[in-house]
Amino acid sequence: MDASLVFTVALKPTEIDNECYDMEICSKYPLELYENAEKIAPSDSGSLKRIEHILGKEGQYSGFGFSHSTTQFDAGPVYSKYVVLNTMEEKLRAQARLQGRIEAVDSKDALERVMVTHLMPDIIGNTRAFSRQHFRCTKCNASIRRIPLNGKCPKCGQDKIILTVNEGGVRKYLGIAKKLSVEFELSDYLKQRLELASQEIDSVFQNEQPEQKKLAEFV
Ligand SMILES: [Zn+2]
Repeated sequence: MDASLVFTVALKPTEIDNECYDMEICSKYPLELYENAEKIAPSDSGSLKRIEHILGKEGQYSGFGFSHSTTQFDAGPVYSKYVVLNTMEEKLRAQARLQGRIEAVDSKDALERVMVTHLMPDIIGNTRAFSRQHFRCTKCNASIRRIPLNGKCPKCGQDKIILTVNEGGVRKYLGIAKKLSVEFELSDYLKQRLELASQEIDSVFQNEQPEQKKLAEFV
């Protein structure tokens, strides 16, 4: 994670991100945990003490156990890789590399999940948004429903009005998604979904130039 940007002085445990409630606060893991893991039991089975169990109770602020000591509790990256890496492709490749090294991760499945939960909704959502979009003034950022007849921004009078969703935004992740799905041999189902999305996008953006014919050609 990144260095914090916001600092909260008064902390209410019931108002924090509820992902933290699953954090275990025991000092060592019991054998039961490993036995349950072997049986692929649900992660909340077993008797591991978690934050969730002490919420709203006395002791909700202190006395948390931990398994590994450190000399500096906030030592770590100041910037996450997500910020340091520039393009989405670099980010996905870095993730795939890391996943490849972890035996517990099915890297194909993990990559496919990223595609299905992040890239596909983005591609499909932006395609949809393209046809329902507004226009925007490049000078004052005013958003308008339709281009005014005089072609000028009704707020500041400037005549450069652009689309809020453009072709680049719609196609942004399509190329990467297709490339990686082939390279990492992801499922045919995903590849076909990408292909269909791609065809739909082409149908929106590829303008077939009308061809003018001479009357004589039909005679
Ligand atoms: Zn304007």
